[in-house]
Amino acid sequence: MTFSMDAFAAAIDLGAVLLLALGIKGLSKVSSARGANGLAALAMGLAVVGLLIEIRPDPIAWLWIAAGSAAGGLAGLVTARRVPMTAMPETVALFNGCGGMASLLVAMGVALFDAGKSDIVALVSIAVSVFVGAITFSGSIVAMAKLQGWLDTPGWTQSRLRHGVNISLAVLCLVSALLLPADPAGLPLWLLMGGATLLGIGVTLPIGGADMPVVISLLNSYSGVAAAAAGFVVGSQLLIVAGAMVGAAGLILTQVMCTAMNRSLVSVLFGGALGASAGAVGGGGSEAGYTRITSCSAEECAMALEQAERVVFVPGYGLAVAQAQHSLRELAKLLESHGVEVSYAIHPVAGRMPGHMNVLLAEADVPYEQLLEMDLVNPEFPRTDVVIVLGANDVVNPQAKNDPTSPLYGMPVLEVDQARQVFVVKRSLGAGYAGINNALFEMPQTAMVFGDAKAVLNGLLSELRSMGVGKVKVAA
Ligand code: NAP
Repeated sequence: MTFSMDAFAAAIDLGAVLLLALGIKGLSKVSSARGANGLAALAMGLAVVGLLIEIRPDPIAWLWIAAGSAAGGLAGLVTARRVPMTAMPETVALFNGCGGMASLLVAMGVALFDAGKSDIVALVSIAVSVFVGAITFSGSIVAMAKLQGWLDTPGWTQSRLRHGVNISLAVLCLVSALLLPADPAGLPLWLLMGGATLLGIGVTLPIGGADMPVVISLLNSYSGVAAAAAGFVVGSQLLIVAGAMVGAAGLILTQVMCTAMNRSLVSVLFGGALGASAGAVGGGGSEAGYTRITSCSAEECAMALEQAERVVFVPGYGLAVAQAQHSLRELAKLLESHGVEVSYAIHPVAGRMPGHMNVLLAEADVPYEQLLEMDLVNPEFPRTDVVIVLGANDVVNPQAKNDPTSPLYGMPVLEVDQARQVFVVKRSLGAGYAGINNALFEMPQTAMVFGDAKAVLNGLLSELRSMGVGKVKVAA
């Protein structure tokens, strides 16, 4: 039996695909997510090794690929290490954009410099890769700029005019793609790329407020589709399979998020900017309109906690901003040592990225079994003595259930208003991401504890300790 380097490269490719599939599967559970991410990264490394073996007779290409992988890997590593947890959605958007751009460049490179690739399969693959890659690239950059607060939603994009502009661009792309066989490296290719880039901007620009996470997840799916199409262009089975997996996973996540926000994908993409009219993307908003607010001190909140048998913490974006997860874990441990039953209510879109609260609490070693998803925890609120809402706002807004005029209407929320007592910890009466008031703040069982989440949690810890909570009782 003779040893073939090509067969060896194919075996490495197969190993990479299997590792990537295992990685994607492992990401579905918090407990296995960190290891799964490592597996997926290893799969990508193996894919590069497989490619280097495959093209071994070409030292110049070898050098380009090795240098590009090293530079890209280093840039990714530095970015991922430096970026704060609260800026993760922008980072994901940027990475999606890079994926789209890579597929676009691969397809453009083949179309411009490999005249041999002009059969119908190659041309269709090039057209799809250029179209989806360019939309993913420009759409992701716009999404990142909006999340960073660098870009507002221009007024005209809220009018019907935007549909006309986007439809014209889509028609331009279609015509250019149909003309591609006549001149594969000429004007139709450039028109297709330009039209799709503008279309990505035109589709993403009007979307704002609470719909942005869905768009990021959809763009993630697009980056997979673009990669799969690029795989057809260069004849890489690895790229086709990996791209298809990313595309399918992104689409499933998009569907899950749409369900969590009670939005249809069509209304997200064509319905204008939910929340954008009420406030800037990313939150803020006025404190106007409240008339019956009750506030209390950390001491009063600590007294209620000391008496409680069952406490549920509701983490939100503000907990991440305050980096208060370790103080929260310490408080929970103190209450547990006092015999209190503690759990955490997790809303699927709390924070600023899917799984944001799971990641945050995992950092503080909160046991996974104490994290209760919305469907599990909602029936538990009526038998809960105290709910502490920590920097969450939209995800506990009862208007989503009972005010048809609210932009959040229809979004499933954590029904904390069913608990006996609710304390809302935040710095002011300012609005959350959707930019609207929260009816929970004025309910009779609610008291606001104003302050930074970390400062309030540390205050609660010292109040409870000064009451003797957590001290070992000496038997008489
Ligand atoms: P939210 O509605 O954005 O509210 C966060 C609250 O945290 C604000 O009202 C703010 O009030 C408070 N806050 C900020 N810094 C704080 C600090 N240092 N200490 C204490 N409180 C602080 O958050 P959410 O309830 O988690 O809801 C998430 C929203 O983001 C949803 O509308 C969701 O659709 C959207 N979104 C989600 C994702 C995702 O994938 N998870 C991505 C993008 C957008 P003060 O300023 O008064 O303190």
